[in-house]
Amino acid sequence: MSASQIPPATAVPGEDDPTLLVKIFGKDRPGITAGLFDTLAAYDVRVVDIEQVVTRGRIVLCALVTPPTAAGVTEGDLRATVHSWADSLRLQAEIISGRGDNRPRGLGRSHVTVLGHPLTARSTAAIAARITGTGGNIDRIFRLAKYPVTAVEFEVSGAETSNLRTALATEAAALGVDVAVVSSGLQRRAQRLVVMDVDSTLIQDEVIELFAAHAGCEAEVAEVTARAMRGELDFEQSLHARVALLAGMDESVVEKVRAEVRLTPGARTLIRTLKRLGYQVGVVSGGFTQVTDDLKERLGLDFASANTLEVVDGKLTGRVVGDVVDRAGKARLLRGFAAEAGVPLSQTVAIGDGANDLDMLNAAGLGVAFNAKPVVRRAAHTAVNVPFLDTVLYLLGITREEVVAAETHAD
Ligand SMILES: [Mg+2]
Repeated sequence: MSASQIPPATAVPGEDDPTLLVKIFGKDRPGITAGLFDTLAAYDVRVVDIEQVVTRGRIVLCALVTPPTAAGVTEGDLRATVHSWADSLRLQAEIISGRGDNRPRGLGRSHVTVLGHPLTARSTAAIAARITGTGGNIDRIFRLAKYPVTAVEFEVSGAETSNLRTALATEAAALGVDVAVVSSGLQRRAQRLVVMDVDSTLIQDEVIELFAAHAGCEAEVAEVTARAMRGELDFEQSLHARVALLAGMDESVVEKVRAEVRLTPGARTLIRTLKRLGYQVGVVSGGFTQVTDDLKERLGLDFASANTLEVVDGKLTGRVVGDVVDRAGKARLLRGFAAEAGVPLSQTVAIGDGANDLDMLNAAGLGVAFNAKPVVRRAAHTAVNVPFLDTVLYLLGITREEVVAAETHAD
């Protein structure tokens, strides 16, 4: 081949250059992709784009290629050869002549993750219509997971992420599905620190209520907790009021409470997968270090911070030691953990359910309201309303297959 015959270095055809879209559909079996490109190789075509999906054993393979350049062959020859190869394998082939590459994707790219339990056709239709309504185009759809919920991701271009988030939040609430909208790009891949609330997020319990049950003041404490979580009471005052009810209890109650704590379904899976993928994971709690230190140890967490119940002569004094971890304190701790981990705040994820998590959820790059009170759900970037903590992984674009792989490789 002389220098003048060497094709240009770029594989991207110009807008007006002819291209062929070759689409193969049929029963999947090994060797189809190799077979198609082997067939095309005889015509010296260049590959511009390839997309392939297999759904329930049926393959759709699309190849965008340049017209044949081999000496003495025509596009008609290529068509005949591809059809004959497809017929021999009982596949359907369609070859569409056109010009140029794919249309450039619009600016404003987002990932829309939909968690359905179950995912219905009605919900899918409504979400797709809303995406279109905000000027967005759905470029790609694929399933992230079928367990414990059906999680599907839409790649959308041409719509502002914030507009999409607002429009879909309304739709999600009406449909009873969870929809998360995050901006695409490298930042999504670079998220490296996840910080969780503890009570009613990492665990199913409110730790103060477990203590209260042993002290016989469950009802009084539960009432104060509920009012604080609804944002009706200042958290610090309510904490002091509740802890005061525990004064005089024997320190041995701590061990009993630790044993009673119930992890939220999916908590272990979430943490194990994040750790395997190189994330750092921490907890911040308006509860107590007497419990969170134990959780940190048991779950292999990188960070944990909470209030400390004061113990004197083997008895709870009814006071906490030092600064109280409240709403502002949780956000401050998130910043501290991020600094320590060397991760910018924009690459952090915070998960929580209560009003005292709001500052932390807003400070994080992605704030996830987990089975949260309405006031928290409305303010967070996204909400999960199924009771499985590992579904947060899907919001980060992590697939069930990756979750299972992390499980298989666990020590
Ligand atoms: Mg909580």
